[in-house]
Amino acid sequence: RGHVRFEGVRFGYDPDRTILDGLDLDVPAGATVAVVGPSGAGKSTLARLLYRFYDVGAGRITIDGQDIAQVTQGSLRAAIGIVPQDTVLFNDTIGYNIAYGREGADDDEVAQAARGAAIAGFIERQPDGYATRVGERGLKLSGGEKQRVAIARTLLKNPPILILDEATSALDSRTEADILATLEAVERGRTTIVIAHRLSTIVAADRIVVLDQGRVAEQGSHAELLRAG
Ligand code: ADP
Ligand code: ADP
Repeated sequence: RGHVRFEGVRFGYDPDRTILDGLDLDVPAGATVAVVGPSGAGKSTLARLLYRFYDVGAGRITIDGQDIAQVTQGSLRAAIGIVPQDTVLFNDTIGYNIAYGREGADDDEVAQAARGAAIAGFIERQPDGYATRVGERGLKLSGGEKQRVAIARTLLKNPPILILDEATSALDSRTEADILATLEAVERGRTTIVIAHRLSTIVAADRIVVLDQGRVAEQGSHAELLRAG
């Protein structure tokens, strides 16, 4: 499960300004689709609509054929994990910050979450084991490490659909590519929408969608888009 479709979606924050202009987008269950395009194209807006921070003006968005307008907020939020660009961590340990991804997580779950994240490469292992890092306070982390914590936290709720909303765009391109490669390695089969800036870092996506002025300007594989110039 996790087949996402935007069908003729129209949306504007203000009635006199259209942001999404009849957007059609099909993300097959389990696929990784990257959405790129100039700043202001509407990339974050489509993520917010999928999560129903806002309702569409016209058209519809479905998950596995069901209009999200008919789904309860609770089940929609259980189905979708969003990792935003700027992660704010609690001034607490990495383990706590990850386990916060699930309400009411106890100490065992905190430790388990952190270990899972470490094994998956979301937290760098230290020579003396992951435990020191897990017990370390999050505020000392680099930008890349913070985003790994944010991704690990979101994955803990095991959403069928994962959205990285410019989650790696502010990082240097090598760190971005590293994080996306980690995800690719451990997250096969989860529907993933990667909103990104740099075409170069998203080679692994099944499909790349170029958004411009609220419409799909082009889509295809990385190689196809490079060929099209
Ligand atoms: P992108 O993610 O592609 O950079 P966004 O979806 O963030 O683009 O924004 C698309 C357009 O919507 C931009 O022109 C932006 O200024 C406008 N916009 C974004 N959020 C709001 C908001 N909360 N209220 C009004 N306009 C907004
Ligand atoms: P949950 O449903 O998992 O308890 P929330 O509904 O509060 O948590 O948020 C789910 C995800 O959406 C979190 O990863 C959070 O960082 C992200 N999020 C919350 N508000 C916004 C927002 N305004 N823009 C982008 N992402 C957001």
